[in-house]
Amino acid sequence: MIPPELIDRIRDSTDIVEVISRYVSLKPTGKGFKGLCPFHQEKTPSFTVNADRQFFHCFGCKAGGNAFHFVMRAESLTFIEAVKELAQRAGIALPEAGTPANQAQDTQRRQLLEVTAWAAGRFQEALRRPGISEPAKAYLQRRGLSTEVAEAFALGYAPDGWDNLLKAARRDQYSEGLLEKAGLIVPRKEGGGFYDRFRQRLMFPIRDLQGRVVAFGGRVLDAGEPKYLNSPETPLFKKGELLYGLDLARESARRRNRLVLVEGYMDVIACHAFGFSEAVASLGTALTPAQANLIRRFSEKVLLLYDADEAGVQASLRAFEVLNREGCLVQVVALPGAKDPDEFLRAQGAAAFQSLLDQPQTMVEFVFTHLAGREKLDRLEGKVTVLKALAPIVSQMASPVERSLSVQWIAGRLQLDERTVLQELGRQKRPPLPPTFGETRESAPEEPAAVLPEEQGLLSALLKRPGLVEKFRERLQPDFFSQDLHRRAV
Ligand SMILES: [Zn+2]
Repeated sequence: MIPPELIDRIRDSTDIVEVISRYVSLKPTGKGFKGLCPFHQEKTPSFTVNADRQFFHCFGCKAGGNAFHFVMRAESLTFIEAVKELAQRAGIALPEAGTPANQAQDTQRRQLLEVTAWAAGRFQEALRRPGISEPAKAYLQRRGLSTEVAEAFALGYAPDGWDNLLKAARRDQYSEGLLEKAGLIVPRKEGGGFYDRFRQRLMFPIRDLQGRVVAFGGRVLDAGEPKYLNSPETPLFKKGELLYGLDLARESARRRNRLVLVEGYMDVIACHAFGFSEAVASLGTALTPAQANLIRRFSEKVLLLYDADEAGVQASLRAFEVLNREGCLVQVVALPGAKDPDEFLRAQGAAAFQSLLDQPQTMVEFVFTHLAGREKLDRLEGKVTVLKALAPIVSQMASPVERSLSVQWIAGRLQLDERTVLQELGRQKRPPLPPTFGETRESAPEEPAAVLPEEQGLLSALLKRPGLVEKFRERLQPDFFSQDLHRRAV
């Protein structure tokens, strides 16, 4: 906790004009200063700073507040982080976190950050050294990655051998205990001692929002397994809370008002190498709510570019769900003829990629297209399967307009009327009603579910001509029908 009087002191020691001048070119006007707003796109300045009252206000996008608010917004920081930032600039010392346990934790964090940065330096050095790094360099060359890109992502190389890093640590006086805690070495199963976790791998440092290395991903350079080896979770690294590349992508994401979410390290690097610096990856896990929240801090609009296989489609659906809950607007980009963005960019180049990003699909269109390839959409069965898959997507949409447009679109594609689609979607996924104040807890009588006209037609045909039942017995599944009565009839 930072005491309120200290926060006041930090504010009083800060000049908002000086703070904002580092981001915006300000021109003096009658009462204060004016400039182009950093928070929305504009050609004539509507962003004003009042030096007397120490606040800013934009007449275009209505952003406004004091110096803390400006730094929070400009740097995507929490309030406490912004206070710390301005305290440091004003040269005001903040009290150390209270208890001895907290202090011990802070010390350990500092030491872990130091040893992790040191290890990243050793890996980078090994990649630059001629001779031993040939396998890694050959790999980067095959992938068409320049030295500049390798440097921007601080790529490195863990050479072959069991104790390269261990030996260097001894020389530079880092303890084995610290290296083990940082996930860099592993205890031997027999006979005591340790060995290097990362051997003969291309190293991808994983950095936090401030650009500090907190963990590593290592890729094999031959046919070995696992293909990617990540640092274990450490006090610095919770993999569900970080996004790979976000430290480099945050500014572009804010400027372009969109964030591109891909699956792998190489996809992020390829995107950046081709000028799409708003790309990040979720570190090989299903997207977590914490990651979705982080994304929302930088961009409302998210483009999903997951791999084109079945697993990628499933991962897209999960990502769609968590991102929607954080209030993101999610769209999908399918990459024709490539398994991932890395492959697509190398084969077809930036212009082709750009035009795909400019025409993203809605999630409904994406899943529909995916299913259309294997379902017979002119049959009742196919229509019901597709509606079943689309129901949860439509019901998750926060915007009623988006939902209504989706229903129209689906109805058109399935050649059904909108009312039928709505009824079927409602039947597939009925969101639980929130309890209202004063409502009694008795259960409401169950509403009769809607019936598809096709279903009714099929059923009446079966009832009129019992011979058909025999003929189709094999192919009729009870869950084919929406209502119990119909299922029992079958
Ligand atoms: Zn503005």
